[in-house]
Amino acid sequence: MAYFDHAATQPMRRSAVEAWVAASGALNSGAQYASGRHARSLLDDARETVAELLGCEPIEVIFTSSGTEADNIAVQGLYAAAAVAEAPGAGRVVTTRIEHSAVKEPVAALHAAGAHVDFLDVGRSGHVERFDALDTPAALATCMWANNETGAIQPITKIVERARATGTPVHTDAVQVVGKQPVNFAELGVTTLAASAHKFGGPRGTGLLLAQRTPAPLPVMRGGGQERGIRPGTVDVASASALAAALRESLAESAEEAARVARFRDQIREYITDHIPGSVINTTEPALPGHLHVSFERTDGDSLILLLDQLGIEAATGSACNAGVNRMSHVLEAMGVEESLALGSLRFTLGPTTTQGDVDKLLAHLPEVIERARLVHG
Ligand code: PLP
Repeated sequence: MAYFDHAATQPMRRSAVEAWVAASGALNSGAQYASGRHARSLLDDARETVAELLGCEPIEVIFTSSGTEADNIAVQGLYAAAAVAEAPGAGRVVTTRIEHSAVKEPVAALHAAGAHVDFLDVGRSGHVERFDALDTPAALATCMWANNETGAIQPITKIVERARATGTPVHTDAVQVVGKQPVNFAELGVTTLAASAHKFGGPRGTGLLLAQRTPAPLPVMRGGGQERGIRPGTVDVASASALAAALRESLAESAEEAARVARFRDQIREYITDHIPGSVINTTEPALPGHLHVSFERTDGDSLILLLDQLGIEAATGSACNAGVNRMSHVLEAMGVEESLALGSLRFTLGPTTTQGDVDKLLAHLPEVIERARLVHG
């Protein structure tokens, strides 16, 4: 099987499996007796590793159950914190039209409950191009660091600078970035940042929220005081250890790996451009090195996925969360891609298990797959 869906999820790294198994006997890290202290020391190690690797203080590391949970806490929690503090921007959210559902849906829920939402527009390249909405205070501004469909890397530094002038806290969904390139939370200057372990070879169902001391998001779920009270609930120590191990390994090889997958990505892009007429590349630099998003005229994404699957090639149309429903991608819509073209899209995302053999197999079959999809499409 040739797997081209690394942005959806990656196989777990051996180092992560081993770390998980080693910590799997850990009991309650909140308990004062010996087994609790042991669990706590494993958790502290994981927290310190994450802090050292991502340029933050250990206290700023909050373990969550997923990237989705981290995003929800940041968006809803910063919004609520601004309301309680009666901050000048309370009641207003600035975001983009290309966010993953993990941010898009909580923002939509806030809007339904009365929040005023303004958007930073993106251009045809998939990058944020207009920043004016940041010149008025808001409870938070939220912009993903790299888009999960196109791989487009967003101008986060510029967003932080502009938001700082009005005292607006910034959240970034860095789920597609963390583990793939160096991240320094302190230097970046965002208030909160979300990441997800399974995107860099850790376990699924484990995420991270980095949260500055202040302004801190209010909790979304109420419970005990774990994780600064921001994410209450008995902590999953084994998954935290596995996340830390995966992050360490992933970052150690990230420069070499980025160059390796970029070569494959360029090979696929050039082949498609040269050999498949009616194809439109939607990934524009700056972009993640392992991402390539392409639309093929007169096809539909579901047929393309099925035809490739029959050949043992796995790719997706966009985000994992939308798979199985071929509707216009909100990301491509925001970029101004025509609906009929957008519906015939594939996203190839490369990662640690990708080989030259996988790429050769894909390129050997892709032209005939597109041709067959066009026959069915009519
Ligand atoms: N944000 C982005 C950009 C993603 O790509 C994903 C996963 O596809 C998520 C958030 C959600 O992460 P998780 O699967 O850990 O909930």
